[in-house]
Amino acid sequence: MLLEYGAWRADRPVGRRARAGETQRSGCHKAASVAGSARVSHQRFDPGPLPALRSSYERRPRRFAHIDAQTWGSWHWQHQNRLRRPEHFEDVLELSAEERVAFVKSAQRFRVAVTPHYAALMAPDDPSCGVRQQGLPQPGELQSFEFELEDPLAEEAHMPVPGITHRYPDRVLFYVSHHCPVYCRHCTRKRKVSDPTTAAARDQIAQGLEYIRNTPTARDVVVSGGDPLTLSDERLGEILRGLRAIEHVEVIRLGTRNPVTLPQRITPELCEILREVRPVYVHTHFNHPDELSQESARALGMLLDAGCVLGNQMVLLRGVNDRPETVMELNRQLLRLGCRPYYMLQCDMAQGISHFRTPLTTGLKIMAHLRGRIGGMGVPHFVVDLPGGGGKVELVPDHIVGTAESPWGQVVTFSNSDGKRFEFVDVDPARLEGDAER
Ligand code: SF4
Repeated sequence: MLLEYGAWRADRPVGRRARAGETQRSGCHKAASVAGSARVSHQRFDPGPLPALRSSYERRPRRFAHIDAQTWGSWHWQHQNRLRRPEHFEDVLELSAEERVAFVKSAQRFRVAVTPHYAALMAPDDPSCGVRQQGLPQPGELQSFEFELEDPLAEEAHMPVPGITHRYPDRVLFYVSHHCPVYCRHCTRKRKVSDPTTAAARDQIAQGLEYIRNTPTARDVVVSGGDPLTLSDERLGEILRGLRAIEHVEVIRLGTRNPVTLPQRITPELCEILREVRPVYVHTHFNHPDELSQESARALGMLLDAGCVLGNQMVLLRGVNDRPETVMELNRQLLRLGCRPYYMLQCDMAQGISHFRTPLTTGLKIMAHLRGRIGGMGVPHFVVDLPGGGGKVELVPDHIVGTAESPWGQVVTFSNSDGKRFEFVDVDPARLEGDAER
């Protein structure tokens, strides 16, 4: 809608102080609500205190009742005691009939593995639990659609050497493992993750390091997988030290879901390696507030102490985290723990995950809800990773609801997260100069 300049002028509060509910300029040139209305808004948006984090050890299922805290805290024990078959879950939770069927059929396509820690965070009698849906096979995995892609981001098509995706000049994806503590049902790399025949061998990792060493434009390396933290400290240390020794590598990123699914993996020994090669940007992947545990909080704290910079890459999943309140709580908890919500990713067009995909409008609504209700650091970038290797594009809610002409440039009318309208003079420098001369 294009407003006439006259209409804009008529609405504009001129020659008096702004009343409650209108905006005025603060000393630092930011729009600030007058005190009275700020109190009202604050009360309306206050979502209340955050719930306390749960301890997976204290919630451990009957199956693990005899396990002591020290054993529970061992990542080797957690790894060795992963739940893989329906009978493993029998004294952990009540499998629904649908989950049983999906277990038998879809586990052949994509393996099942759930750490005792992650299983303890699942609601035993609620199949709609956000943690459970990510760890247990779902009937939707059996459906397939023509538009789905085996390799939605064309990562294999941009591989100069096995285990390296090099699509942008400065960034390199370095796959060092195809294993993970938990096989997430929404995984975009289902085509190779969990498949032992595609695992990155020692030679392949050496070849990847060699490629990066010989490619001066490779300044930003994302160490990924699978999950790189499934490697031993020794192997991981070799890789990270190898990267740090390459002069042109400016940024080292580590993509890992271990703080979520196996936080016991974050040990003092691992942190010593990370501290040695700091800073390492750790990108983790919490999708639901119920995934945050006391054990995760401890792991994130240790990573921070080791000089890591923490960011979260959430994937938007239907029925799991597609409500604004869920994302809001997750992001508040993450910020409290020193982990910045970085991306909210639209679910890719990968095979067998369409039941998780939300309409794009869902993400936009969540973004509109977050803006204004949580500080900017809690608002992630909502992105679609385009199929075929098109890269990420960011989607933002449209807040412009109208424009009008003024003597100084366009007057743009914005609608804020509360639905209120505000006008902003988008000055045209040439017109200002003309005005000053007169
Ligand atoms: S941790 Fe990452 S790579 Fe592994 S299954 Fe989950 S989403 Fe896929």
